[in-house]
Amino acid sequence: MNRIRLLPLPLVNQIAAGEVIERPASVVKELVENSLDAGASRIDIIVEAGGVGLIRVRDDGSGISRDDLPLAVARHATSKIATLEDLLKVHSLGFRGEALPSIAAVARLELISRTATEPCGWRLQVNANGSPSAPMPVAHPPGTTAIVTDLFYSVPARRKFLRSEETEFGQIRRWLERIALSCFETGFVLRHKQREVLQLPPAQMAVEREARLGQILGREFLEHALEVDCVAGDLRLRGWIGLPTLSRLQADMQFWYVNRRPVRDKLLNHALRVAFRDVLPSGRQPVAVLYLDLEPSLVDVNAHPAKLEVRFRDARTVRDFIAQSLYRLLGQARPAPAAGTFGGRLSPPPQVNESLSFYQALGEQTERLPNPALTEAEEAILPLGQALAHLHAIYILAEAQAGLVIVDAHAAHERILYEKLKRQLEDNALVRQPLLLPLKVAVSPSEAELAQRCQDLLAELGIEVEVLGPEVLIVRTLPALLAGADVAGLVRDLLSELAHSDAATEAQAALRERLASLACRRAVRAGQRLSREEMNALLRELERTERSGQCNHGRPSWVVLDFKTLDRFFHRGR
Ligand code: ADP
Ligand code: MG
Repeated sequence: MNRIRLLPLPLVNQIAAGEVIERPASVVKELVENSLDAGASRIDIIVEAGGVGLIRVRDDGSGISRDDLPLAVARHATSKIATLEDLLKVHSLGFRGEALPSIAAVARLELISRTATEPCGWRLQVNANGSPSAPMPVAHPPGTTAIVTDLFYSVPARRKFLRSEETEFGQIRRWLERIALSCFETGFVLRHKQREVLQLPPAQMAVEREARLGQILGREFLEHALEVDCVAGDLRLRGWIGLPTLSRLQADMQFWYVNRRPVRDKLLNHALRVAFRDVLPSGRQPVAVLYLDLEPSLVDVNAHPAKLEVRFRDARTVRDFIAQSLYRLLGQARPAPAAGTFGGRLSPPPQVNESLSFYQALGEQTERLPNPALTEAEEAILPLGQALAHLHAIYILAEAQAGLVIVDAHAAHERILYEKLKRQLEDNALVRQPLLLPLKVAVSPSEAELAQRCQDLLAELGIEVEVLGPEVLIVRTLPALLAGADVAGLVRDLLSELAHSDAATEAQAALRERLASLACRRAVRAGQRLSREEMNALLRELERTERSGQCNHGRPSWVVLDFKTLDRFFHRGR
């Protein structure tokens, strides 16, 4: 047995840092929170190499005095709380006194700071063994600059978990956008690789706030959002929710703040979903920016090392309040104009009714088959049989040799399209079709940037996209198979999928397949009654697809109630 021993301090710090500093965005988060706690009105962030090379955060806040500088980088040293009582009603973003020592344990950290009363600034570096150098006088305006270089140099294993520079920077940007939505009075500038990526001037007045909101979520959000301001007892909920037409595939545009602190919380997300349950199809996620304010003593913010989660004293009341307030608000809203194009100011080009034409095309194909008299032998080889009815315009009922076949027409159509598209992609035989009128799609600035970066990948899929401005894309072509799809929705779905995958490293083929299946989902619309010819055409096409031996993706598109099962229902012995 080994003896028990105390770990050396640098190792203790490295272990603790693992919880707080996961990736470059965590460094930016902690430094910017410190600047905000210091009352900064301007925060400038410079990033190189996705944050691994350099992160420099400069603020014009209260500064740190010369004598306090060494303490700032010591573990469990903070100016923000002193007693348990303070902890219970904490207003600042930080309070654990862990961020700076954690950063110093995994990167090279330098702090330069000057308070309003000092004639010059003081500079301090943390040495490799974790101890701070003696402060040296330097010229610096009042405020603080933190410089972090060579992230994870001391824990090379951690570096291996990082993704591409662009992906890491994307996380930084998204995180900064998140916090900027709760500190409108503070101005932010973000630069990466010498390029200004985000410039958010301080916003005091309502129009300025809305401008920031539009800059981050896209102007389209503003035009399709409802303002929220509800109070019940000690609880207050403010912010904006997007109308259902803005819904997304991912919950990546849900911004929650509890007493101004950005949080990710299951309870809050759940309440939001409940509020939208009647107006959103399953699998779609609402867009929302919501601020919940309550007595600090009613919520425990010390529930997570990075302070991203909170615990409510009375979770149930909080959830019900949010769900009910938003549900009521949505109920009062009138149906929204069509989403996808500048809030209706530019109307989308006329589109043929895609699913109808698709089935009709199939119908024509079958008419060319020797019709109508199929011999018994021929019928026997049609596993999905002959269509009888289109139940509620959802399920096709068909009589087959084996019994009753029930087909989900919508799912089947999706599946057929997907297999065709996949085959075309594999065979390098994708047929792309120019749109009659290239379509403008309003997006958020980060989506536009992503589109620019993934242009080639999208083009491979037959979707030619051009970035027209910081919030506008132009879509010029679609795969011919998806002609008539909801283009704006499709492009946004693909971008949100791309934002969550790493196009640079993820297996290209797998990613392409996922995108293709997403695209097909967007190309099919539900609820159209089919004629018998159309139904039969769909059944034949589905048989061909099934027989091509592809594994079945996603939900099933058909089931058989065989005679054995039917006989069992009716207690009929045969
Ligand atoms: P915490 O924020 O939890 O207190 P940190 O390790 O992040 O812990 O910071 C330690 C202390 O250093 C803070 O309590 C604060 O007094 C000081 N400090 C850090 N960054 C700044 C800054 N940008 N401006 C002023 N003071 C700062
Ligand atoms: Mg802090």
